[in-house]
Amino acid sequence: MREQDPQVRARNFEEVPYGYTPEEAVEEAKRCLKCKKPSCVQGCPVNIDIPGFVGQIALGNFWEAMKVMKTTNTLPAICGRVCPQESQCEGSCVLAKKMEPVAIGNLERYIADWEAQQNECVMCEMKPRTGKKVAVVGAGPAGLTVASDCAKMGHSVAMFEALHKPGGVLVYGIPEFRLPKAIVEREVNFVRSMGVDLQLNYVVGKLKTLDDLLQEFDAVFVGTGAGKPSFMGIPGENCLGVYSANEYLTRSNLMKAYLFPRYDTPIVRGKRVATIGGGNVAMDSARTALRLGAEKSILIYRRSREEMPARTAEVHHAEQEGIEFNLLTNPVRYIADEKGWVKAVECLRMELGEPDASGRRRPVPVKGSEFQIPVDTVVVAIGNSPNPLIAQTTPGLETAKHGNVVADPKTGRTSKQGVFAGGDIVTGAATVILAMGAGRLAANSIDEYVRTGQW
Ligand SMILES: Cc1cc2nc3c(=O)[nH]c(=O)nc-3n(C[C@H](O)[C@H](O)[C@H](O)COP(=O)(O)OP(=O)(O)OC[C@H]3O[C@@H](n4cnc5c(N)ncnc54)[C@H](O)[C@@H]3O)c2cc1C
Ligand code: SF4
Repeated sequence: MREQDPQVRARNFEEVPYGYTPEEAVEEAKRCLKCKKPSCVQGCPVNIDIPGFVGQIALGNFWEAMKVMKTTNTLPAICGRVCPQESQCEGSCVLAKKMEPVAIGNLERYIADWEAQQNECVMCEMKPRTGKKVAVVGAGPAGLTVASDCAKMGHSVAMFEALHKPGGVLVYGIPEFRLPKAIVEREVNFVRSMGVDLQLNYVVGKLKTLDDLLQEFDAVFVGTGAGKPSFMGIPGENCLGVYSANEYLTRSNLMKAYLFPRYDTPIVRGKRVATIGGGNVAMDSARTALRLGAEKSILIYRRSREEMPARTAEVHHAEQEGIEFNLLTNPVRYIADEKGWVKAVECLRMELGEPDASGRRRPVPVKGSEFQIPVDTVVVAIGNSPNPLIAQTTPGLETAKHGNVVADPKTGRTSKQGVFAGGDIVTGAATVILAMGAGRLAANSIDEYVRTGQW
């Protein structure tokens, strides 16, 4: 897919890939073999009918393709952009064994963007009203999937979102150059058009508890994500200029600091910015720093490139844009100047030892290898855990070690009758499509519960 030139895009927030032309989409779709037992569908956590929608694109029937898509996925423009297709549908495509797999993600994105350019929109089939009421807490990918699936099943759905914009990480975390916010808004509006009532600025656990919601609703789904940042606990983390990735990205994306002076949100535009971590959040932070004006954006990651959890395409994009990778390097302390502002990060060189519980080779410090990197801003992107508010205000809701809500992976049922949960709040920080997959399972199980009343 054609993309913006790396030198140019490294200084703007516009989307990196341009998307297919209609001809390119049809040509790519024609490569699909329409396998009888499509392994790509098995590889997709929400089991999109991939040969179905790709086959319609190959025929040039874009409306039909969108109809097929919307039976199983109401967020295709989002999934087409951010899903890790390489390890899911495309990784399972039979063509991947001998050549390039069908570019399923690009086609998904194409068909959703094509629909956005039309004056009409494909609507989903809605079942008759059941009179049952479902509350959804959190308007991220998990909550949006539960809301749209339950609405399709005929239930009345109310969503409660703490922030002033719906979308979860899609609006506050993932930057504009990877996922334009107008696209998220459009797909969220589609979910609303199915009759879902969305209440913004509504913090459940403060305005109402889950028990309050259970008085009003037949079932409650908790999809509150994992938005609490983790720190390493090393000296100097409280220095001025050291951000969590959550704060840095939220200021830039949701609070629109990148659109200064149109939006007057303060953010530090460092000249030498170090980002700590090797996942998608770290790539997004390092690339954002560059776009906010950094002369040098430096990534510091304790393992090697092979163990990086970020998507290959994002690592590649970051490298093209000139992010400096310091691999096998671990920060041990931050050093401040006389005003308390971070001026350097002290690091240790690492080498790889035996595999650990994650299956990746464990980074082991090289003794006496301390060295310093001069910086004026640091972004810590080493992981997130659930916000404890819901657990703290809900007696009887079982949680695990890091505060994750315990839920049955097949049904989303929690320890509390009528309460279901899914997405990052259950699994810890994962992916959009896994959150959507959990939402789909929970919606089916909510449907069964509200109809039968059996727990
Ligand atoms: C910077 C970044 C980049 C990422 N990149 C990718 C990527 O490229 N591909 C990918 O697949 N995944 C990516 N992820 C991970 C992915 O975004 C998450 O796994 C996914 O968003 C989880 O969905 P969710 O619905 O469980 O939670 P969230 O998206 O976190 O949504 C939870 C929502 O609940 C709301 N909420 C929280 N508490 C309350 C409360 N008490 N009351 C009401 N509302 C509440 C929050 O405000 C939020 O809107 C990325 C994550 C980050 C942070
Ligand atoms: S596995 Fe690949 S070739 Fe087969 S149906 Fe799926 S996308 Fe098409």
